[in-house]
Amino acid sequence: MKYRTLGKTGMEVSVVGYGASPLGNEFGETDVAEGVRAVHCAIDLGINYFDVSPYYGRTLAEERLGRALEGRRDRVYLATKCGRYGAPEDEGGFDFSPQRVTKSIDESLDRLKTDYVDILQVHDIEFGDREQIINETLPALRKIQEAGKCRFVGITGLPLKVLRDVASRGGVDTILSYCRYNLMITDMADVLAPFCRERGVGLINASPLHMRILSEKGAPDWHPASQEVKQAGGKVVQLCEKRGVSVADVALKFCVDYAYAATTLVGMSKQRHVEQNVAALEITVPSDLLGQIEQSVEPVKNRTWPSGRPENND
Ligand code: NAD
Repeated sequence: MKYRTLGKTGMEVSVVGYGASPLGNEFGETDVAEGVRAVHCAIDLGINYFDVSPYYGRTLAEERLGRALEGRRDRVYLATKCGRYGAPEDEGGFDFSPQRVTKSIDESLDRLKTDYVDILQVHDIEFGDREQIINETLPALRKIQEAGKCRFVGITGLPLKVLRDVASRGGVDTILSYCRYNLMITDMADVLAPFCRERGVGLINASPLHMRILSEKGAPDWHPASQEVKQAGGKVVQLCEKRGVSVADVALKFCVDYAYAATTLVGMSKQRHVEQNVAALEITVPSDLLGQIEQSVEPVKNRTWPSGRPENND
């Protein structure tokens, strides 16, 4: 395993991080015992960064991860989130108020069976009022930090400019974005990376498989990408198949080779995926295959989808 420094946190994080949303059945039912094996295997193979949220499986992922980490908590960096709790259409889906996030961390610590997390992140800030996030939510997280319940504070979301704006005005230690740097899209490199480099903010890249578009299984039903993007992803899968290589390996290696993101979070709930994803770090992707993939995705390159409030989209 290789490690990189996460911004100014001093944390040396594994270049592949463990995304725990599948433990909450976000990509379909998962086997609980297999999930525990996946977590233990990841730690044994050197993965030391774990990302979860109360939103994943509506608390299920935190509960399962907490149980799996019992006796191993001190071997990992643990990041969770606050502010997002239910589906967007639910009235109570989001609550970025200081009262709710202050209560939320206590609930998360209870489920995660620990007395602190390494990073507490405001989850999907584009669904909130930016001024509230800057003036109320982030100050509440700094109080939680002062109380010793989190070591660092971050934000997450899909649209890049709102992340940059809130980070710049609100002050954060880390930024996580997803589906913004992988074989289908690379605009994280233009919008966030220079800012993070200049300010010493840790950059976390999530969803290297474009939430499973870049896998043999294909996208789950709820995937928000357009049909065109899904079809273009399907062509990438075929190109890799023809060359006898795994699309997941190629997709993950492409992300990990991008050194400006300290870690790439891949969602896992199966031991074989953990083993495969760690082994993928050693592969060399033939440059002509990368060229073919680049050419093939060109018509939909950098296409994303709306997320959150209209004023927060970019
Ligand atoms: P992903 O692109 O990592 O895809 C995950 C899916 O791919 C799962 O179904 C998993 O079973 C499957 N998979 C993993 N390895 C595989 C392999 N080798 N072969 C075939 N299939 C494989 O998408 P993701 O899980 O959404 O993103 C990773 C993590 O990043 C999440 O679990 C979460 O922790 C974090 N994340 C955070 C946010 C946010 O904060 N807003 C958003 C998205 C993701």
